[in-house]
Amino acid sequence: MPLFGVHESIAGGFDQAVFQAASKGFKTLQIFSKNSNRWSAKPIPTEIAEKFRGSLQKAGIVNPIIHDSYLINAASPNEELRAKSVNALVDELNRADLLGISGVVMHPGAYTTGTEESGLRLVADSLDQAFREAANSARILLETTAGQGTCLGARFEHLARIIDLSNYPERLGVCLDTCHIFAAGYEFRTEETYEKMMTEFDTVIGIDRLKAIHLNDSVKGCGSRVDRHAAIGYGAIGKETFGFLVNDPRLAGLPMILETPKGEVEIDGKTEDWDDVNLRTLRSLVRV
Ligand SMILES: [Zn+2]
Ligand SMILES: [Zn+2]
Repeated sequence: MPLFGVHESIAGGFDQAVFQAASKGFKTLQIFSKNSNRWSAKPIPTEIAEKFRGSLQKAGIVNPIIHDSYLINAASPNEELRAKSVNALVDELNRADLLGISGVVMHPGAYTTGTEESGLRLVADSLDQAFREAANSARILLETTAGQGTCLGARFEHLARIIDLSNYPERLGVCLDTCHIFAAGYEFRTEETYEKMMTEFDTVIGIDRLKAIHLNDSVKGCGSRVDRHAAIGYGAIGKETFGFLVNDPRLAGLPMILETPKGEVEIDGKTEDWDDVNLRTLRSLVRV
């Protein structure tokens, strides 16, 4: 079975996020390391981090990842905002290290009043600063994005350029989000176009850089540039497409994380949890 996981809230505690994911049958998970809409957070006490590590062992959850705060914009031409973003990234890397998590997923950011190239250079520079200050082994996983507005990351070339400009390429990886690449204009709904997309990824970035997958269907169409996640099989990407990913030997062992809408749904007169429904759908696609 592929390493299916889910994004869980840490509102009830870091260890509770682990047990929540495990109780639904997931083998990995993604969390925010703090409130994703606030700049600062209290340091994580050592005993809480230890409890978290222990809960991973107990629950059999492997390869967890962190998603960084939504406020961070490493591409901002505004020096104050960028400095704040670098500080926040340092904090994310240190929190990851403390929790024993090796990957922090990050959106490259938006260049706003700058240019695409200046934005990419700022991202690489921000990351260098953050890696210098957070001298641990935690990695940043640059996420592909839908490319809304001036957001970088909608082309594989953007991520390749950042890695190329970085002085710490060994601390950089990539997280591929299916909803985002689809919204950004990558078509992969047939076996042929899926292969083409993966070949393009390998040629431009290199498949060895791929460290995590976000499995999300998309509310909007290919090239819409709108980032709206849908349940697996309930969006424009469609269920069958996810079969290509879950059976791809190149992706075996990578965390495949759901960031799909939460809550309850009624299916055939039965009330179910969306996470359970999505996991069941993904499992049904795995060829044995
Ligand atoms: Zn993301
Ligand atoms: Zn994502």
